[in-house]
Amino acid sequence: MGVSLDTPVRDRAKQPKETKLAPGVKFDILPSPNPVPEQERAARLADPGFGRVFTDHMAIVRYNQAKGWHDARIESRANFPLDAATAVLHYAQEIFEGLKGYRREDGGVNLFRPDANARRMKDSAERMAMAPLPEAVFIEAVEQLVRIDRAWIPGGEGSLYLRPFMIASEVFLGVKPSAEYIFAVIASPVGSYFKGGPAPVSIWVSETYTRAAIGGTGAVKCGGNYAASLRAQAEAIEHGCDQVVFLDAVERRYIEELGGMNIFFVLDDGALITPPLGTILPGITRDSIIALARDVGTPVREEPYTIDQWRADAASGRLKEAFACGTAAVISPIGKVCSVNGDFAINGGAAGPVAMGLRKQLVDIQYGRAADPHAWIRKVF
Ligand SMILES: *Cc1c(COP(=O)(O)O)cnc(C)c1O
Repeated sequence: MGVSLDTPVRDRAKQPKETKLAPGVKFDILPSPNPVPEQERAARLADPGFGRVFTDHMAIVRYNQAKGWHDARIESRANFPLDAATAVLHYAQEIFEGLKGYRREDGGVNLFRPDANARRMKDSAERMAMAPLPEAVFIEAVEQLVRIDRAWIPGGEGSLYLRPFMIASEVFLGVKPSAEYIFAVIASPVGSYFKGGPAPVSIWVSETYTRAAIGGTGAVKCGGNYAASLRAQAEAIEHGCDQVVFLDAVERRYIEELGGMNIFFVLDDGALITPPLGTILPGITRDSIIALARDVGTPVREEPYTIDQWRADAASGRLKEAFACGTAAVISPIGKVCSVNGDFAINGGAAGPVAMGLRKQLVDIQYGRAADPHAWIRKVF
């Protein structure tokens, strides 16, 4: 083909349009001819950990410019045959989502705010110049997968982690938005994200690396953000910490978020502070916590908070708690903060009542054990 990176590309600026398939989205359901036998499945479900056990099926939908979104299927989970020149392998045009299915006591399954994930995936697609997937197709794919793989959903405090994602599948080495995409959903039964459950985590303040700048991709869920965070996460581990927390890229003093979780601070007057949207990922857990807090009159301030203030407030007692939040871990109390300027503890290194109370409230809604005043739950069955 002899196309070099600086070859003018006819449709470089053209962004794929959303096309039909919804409404009346029809997925072809092709059940796996050799699902994992029941006994083996039970063994894998006994202690699934996070992200290593997968179900029998996946959802897949294809996009090209002629047909739009088409060929929607539920089929056996399998390898993707990808040409070595497939665009995603070179330029990382890739986005993903994360949500969970929760088994209710009556045996049914709840999804938590899947419409919010569908919307965010559209936002991510737009930022990454990818074809936006109709929200109805996203939700149908997730629901069909949960239905066919319902036997894989753990009971108790386990859940089925659902991973929708989209890759640029055009075979072309030119730097331009791909003309073809694959959207897929895989599912992974999970126990607790952090080993030992919601025990307090220690976090390392990265002074070396940043994750997002204004105008960049920090506010969308693209794989590249994670690739760029791994070195900082490795630095956190080297310093004996569980997770990394990033500072803003301009002044290098405002707290942004962890590698994959948002952050909240609890003050002694009961108010919550959380960094404002902009360069951070707009977490659905973050949004839900803000709503639950405001429901009971707790003031929530979305405002910048510096690392120096954090240290001072922890020392003076003005800061009562800090916690991280995201779909995988729900809420993780932060017990200790480490940095090149020394370490400090929060709430004596223990989980605090505000974090644990919000966690219980959220988890009870997700599992259908508590009222759902914001209509966040979507029952699959
Ligand atoms: C996914 C993610 C979060 C959490 O989002 P939820 O919708 O609450 O799961 C926070 N930060 C980053 C960087 C993320 O990728």
